[in-house]
Amino acid sequence: MYGAYPDLDDHVLIVSRDNPRLGFTAFIAIHNEARGPAMGGCRIVPYATVAEAVTDVLRLSKGMSYKNAIANIPYGGGKAVIIADPGRADKKAVLHEMGDFVRSLEGRYITSFDSGTTLDDVKTIGERTTFTAGTLAEAGNASQTTARGVYHCMRTAAELRFGAVGLSGLRVAIQGVGNVGGRLAHLLAADGADLIVADTDRRIADQLAEDLGATVGSVDDILASDVDIIAPCALGAILNNNSIPNIRAKAVVGGANNQLAHPEDDLRLKERGILYCPDYVANGGGIIDLHYQRSGWSPEAVEQHILTLADTFREVAARAREQDRGTGAVADDIALERLSPAS
Ligand code: NAD
Repeated sequence: MYGAYPDLDDHVLIVSRDNPRLGFTAFIAIHNEARGPAMGGCRIVPYATVAEAVTDVLRLSKGMSYKNAIANIPYGGGKAVIIADPGRADKKAVLHEMGDFVRSLEGRYITSFDSGTTLDDVKTIGERTTFTAGTLAEAGNASQTTARGVYHCMRTAAELRFGAVGLSGLRVAIQGVGNVGGRLAHLLAADGADLIVADTDRRIADQLAEDLGATVGSVDDILASDVDIIAPCALGAILNNNSIPNIRAKAVVGGANNQLAHPEDDLRLKERGILYCPDYVANGGGIIDLHYQRSGWSPEAVEQHILTLADTFREVAARAREQDRGTGAVADDIALERLSPAS
């Protein structure tokens, strides 16, 4: 039944749940469980069609297999989507139904927040199942650990591309200074980087300019800024055949998911001599945090593990140089190696 979907890969389980009385339709997809139970967030999106929801859950669960493997955490890849308006009045009932759905898989899938769901929503799901992650009070907001992973990868990019130790004096442009980008800006400023920031919400950008002495750039051409490094922290598919020819930076390291519009954009970046840190290497800090929240969380343990993302990026960059390939393709190779049961 799912065979007609181009995004069907080696998924091991796709299940749906309908509760017509509640007007509830949801899907959970498990892409790979060789490393352990599948972990990935739950989206609530008013998909126009069931096909859109299935496509999303297939694509996202595969992405989580790669992200969890690259992050070297003992989880496979999974994702859940609920077809609904995230603002609906009976959201609590919807979340409880989701909790029952997750519980029915007996631990094969562990859920968390994503588009359309908040930390409080995960707590509500958690009233029905223990198979949730991300709500440990002392851990705070996982965006901070995501930003720290991006920061460490950026320091590695600075070393590889400019021979720099740290970011002092380097110019960095950040696209989107919300949860991840805003926290990243603070880390970069503390390390001595000169910042240009742009956000469609001008007030957040202005505030950062005031707090950190950053320059506010234009939303339309922030990725073409005359800087050393760009950090996409807002949207996906922003590295494409329109944007790449105009990039003046020598490295791209950001928190946004799915930055490459197409696989061939990986090569476009390489051909222009731009060192690209694959997005799911750079932004793996949040999922590492969720792992520790389920098994012995401490800031030190999380930070130690996050530093390994930078080591992985170093390995990716070295192999890409040796093999004359794009870093995105090489990261996929490493993720696949780590997905094999023998690894
Ligand atoms: P967010 O909504 O808090 O921040 C995104 C910011 O980008 C917002 O301030 C928004 O106004 C701005 N923005 C939107 N369109 C823009 C544009 N065209 N130009 C400039 N700014 C624009 O989201 P977030 O949690 O910071 O996540 C950012 C990205 O990182 C997303 O792709 C997300 O999937 C990814 N990510 C986030 C986490 C996390 O821990 N939050 C983890 C992994 C990946």
